[in-house]
Amino acid sequence: MLAVTGWFALVLLLHLLLPGQLACGVQLPNRQRLTYKLNAFSVFAITYGTAAAVSFGLGVLDLSWIPRNFVPLTTAAIIFSSVLAVAVYAASFLPNRLLSQHGNSGIFVYDFWMGRELNPRAFGKTLDIKEFCELYPGMIGWGLLNLAFAYQQYKQLGYVTNAMLLVNGFELWYIADGLLNEAAILTTMDITTDGFGFMLAFGDLAWVPFTFCTQARYLADYPRQLSLPALLGVLAVQALGYCIFRGANSQKNTFRTNPGHPSVAHLKSMPTERGTRLIISGWWGAARHINYLGDWLMGLAWCLPCGLSGLASVVPYFYCIYFAALLVHRERRDEAACRAKYGADWGRYCALVPWRIIPYVY
Ligand code: NDP
Repeated sequence: MLAVTGWFALVLLLHLLLPGQLACGVQLPNRQRLTYKLNAFSVFAITYGTAAAVSFGLGVLDLSWIPRNFVPLTTAAIIFSSVLAVAVYAASFLPNRLLSQHGNSGIFVYDFWMGRELNPRAFGKTLDIKEFCELYPGMIGWGLLNLAFAYQQYKQLGYVTNAMLLVNGFELWYIADGLLNEAAILTTMDITTDGFGFMLAFGDLAWVPFTFCTQARYLADYPRQLSLPALLGVLAVQALGYCIFRGANSQKNTFRTNPGHPSVAHLKSMPTERGTRLIISGWWGAARHINYLGDWLMGLAWCLPCGLSGLASVVPYFYCIYFAALLVHRERRDEAACRAKYGADWGRYCALVPWRIIPYVY
């Protein structure tokens, strides 16, 4: 419990103390915009640098302590996130709180799960608890857990297999990419629409770090070395996934912030009564959530290095099975939200871009 609380406190302290770019969030239902301090990448670089210095430089911390204490650490993270969920739920009853549309039904279990308050804040409103939990302790911790499993493998074998290197490299890339593009989270459904309740507290602080490291954990116990064709095949799936994921997300971000930019100026789009334009060509003309396809393909590339040679080896594929269900459900939620936001325009858009996630399939 001390390790989990200490990790959270260290990351929080760095976030509060280190300088960061200030960014404005989207307009809230009360017509206000919140300001966010963005320094996730600096916190990531400093914590990893410190971990490397104290483990390999000073020899004070043995990183293999983490895999050896995986179950107690997971339990502590579940307890910590539950306590946080109770605290933000209780605080949401204080005066002048902006409540989320979906977490304010009056049904305790539902509201506790969904989150009553939209953007709970602390430390004189300088800390946005939801944005911090979404990107800092859990995401950064996930990469550290992966590295600890790689170190455990190194201690056992005397080297790190190429499968473990791929899993660590891919996932570290994904984490660093997400942290570098921190501003992009301000327009996601989690920040703009969902309240901060048990679902996000548990998801961000316990679920993400302790289940997303399953492939590295599996490879520490069942080491694998990939043949060259298998390695190239996995790299190709990752490259394709990244190309779609980053291409689509950047295309939408650039189009929305700077539509005259040469990289998006050629795109076809349709006007809407809401005032914003919907892209109908390029990545967004292929499917309405083509970015989810790219994200899922990358998830598949993280699982493939674990191979498939029997029932037990299905375990590391948990991530891409779970993620497929999450993305299909998320797409349905976003679809319903867009239908409500855009009305008849959304129907016209769906006629022009009929596929949900996978062109010509779904
Ligand atoms: P999106 O980035 O797909 O954004 C959806 C919003 O974009 C819509 O609500 C709409 O909002 C706008 N939009 C939709 N279609 C168009 C269009 N054609 N042209 C312009 N704007 C459009 O949603 P998410 O926030 O769900 O996902 C962001 C990224 O995060 C994705 O890549 C996803 O894969 C990833 N993600 C990863 C998770 C993980 O656990 N690894 C979990 C969740 C997400 P409006 O018009 O109001 O701007």
